[in-house]
Amino acid sequence: MTIATPPQALQNARSLDSYWMPFTANRQFKAAPRLLASAQGMHYATEDGRKVIDGTAGLWCVNAGHGRQPITQAVERQLATLDYAPSFQMGHPIAFDFAERLAAIAPGEGAGKLDRIFFTGSGSESVDTALKIAIAYQRAIGQGTRTRLIGRERGYHGVGFGGITVGGLVNNRRVFPLLPGADHLRHTHDLERNAFSKGQPDHGAELADDLERLVALHGAETIAAVIVEPMAGSTGVLVPPKGYLERLREIATRHGILLIFDEVITGFGRLGTPFASEYFGVMPDLMTTAKGITNGTIPMGAVFAARKVHDALMNGPEATIELFHGYTYSGHPVACAAGLATLDIYAGEGLLTRVQALAPLWEEALHALRGVPHVIDIRTIGLVAGIELASRPGAVGARAYEAFVDCFEKGLLIRVTGDVIALSPPLICEPSQIEEMVSLLRGALERLA
Ligand code: PMP
Repeated sequence: MTIATPPQALQNARSLDSYWMPFTANRQFKAAPRLLASAQGMHYATEDGRKVIDGTAGLWCVNAGHGRQPITQAVERQLATLDYAPSFQMGHPIAFDFAERLAAIAPGEGAGKLDRIFFTGSGSESVDTALKIAIAYQRAIGQGTRTRLIGRERGYHGVGFGGITVGGLVNNRRVFPLLPGADHLRHTHDLERNAFSKGQPDHGAELADDLERLVALHGAETIAAVIVEPMAGSTGVLVPPKGYLERLREIATRHGILLIFDEVITGFGRLGTPFASEYFGVMPDLMTTAKGITNGTIPMGAVFAARKVHDALMNGPEATIELFHGYTYSGHPVACAAGLATLDIYAGEGLLTRVQALAPLWEEALHALRGVPHVIDIRTIGLVAGIELASRPGAVGARAYEAFVDCFEKGLLIRVTGDVIALSPPLICEPSQIEEMVSLLRGALERLA
């Protein structure tokens, strides 16, 4: 494996002042920057040519690994053929082709099949789009009083105003005004009952009854939709307890509330099925995706809508716009080209189900960290792991951050949220690389003060 040497310009000293970095402690980062200059397969390389194994698939998005030639070539070809075309009241062939291909792998059946595709530019846009579709759907079926949105504590649904409203992270919410009327289910994280679970934890299905309580509190006729991540990734790898999603589905259906699964992380094979709804055997009415849809290469997202939701909105007079919503970059031709090439790789290499074969080894390797000092929980599902550390008194997240910096220096990229270390490597990962990542992580954990 070779990693390209970064161009000379990248190797020269540069000013870090102008780039205002997202979700980053800018001042701290700029004092000791970590820059990734190139990537190939399972590895990044730093500017000085140091190899770093990618334990996080970028930000949960590079499912087929880095530097995939078919994607590069498809993007080049598309840029040379049709670089951009307007997305409103105009179309271009490749967006229809890509939607067809996504529809072909969409989960669900009959009126519940999620094969109507609305393109966006990111996960956050997918979330806000899905929330708007839900409200518009309710109105279209004569349920115009249903505008309330229900999310969940410790949910992460991106950074749009809709997303932070239904999200459940205080730091993302407290500075900003939120959409009115929203409410939240409790989260399902329960260290006392579920620590060191493999796959779905045993306890907590009853937490889904929170939706019943919110119906009793607000009235079903005010609630448009409930949105959850089928597995919450960004907020610390929270796996739904056995029976939880089934129960949520049942309550939502009984009260005419749409169920939205945010599959921005779980979509495209992360759990060993193309989508998490298939892993859990529970179908939503709307599904949000992004990230793996283009292997992280070109920004794109997509909302997969059940036919019944889509069709309800197609019932108005013919010349009307059915949904007053969309983006300049909805169905961007270059993103569609990247997406089509990505789907070819996924299909050709069996990546959307590959994790099923890796998962037992993954689970065993990760759970072997049990007993390492400070480790108070390990959660594994699919090709995802959350390793939770005991907080250092008065410094939530400090230990995990220290491990992150140490791992990076030793050649492993991990991700931390609070006291949780998350691992989610590309789906092309080899068993020996799993062993390597866990061993590097073990070293960092053992070095923690
Ligand atoms: N939803 C979920 C479940 C996510 O994990 C993320 C990003 N990690 C988003 C939405 C937002 O996606 P983006 O950053 O592309 O806007």
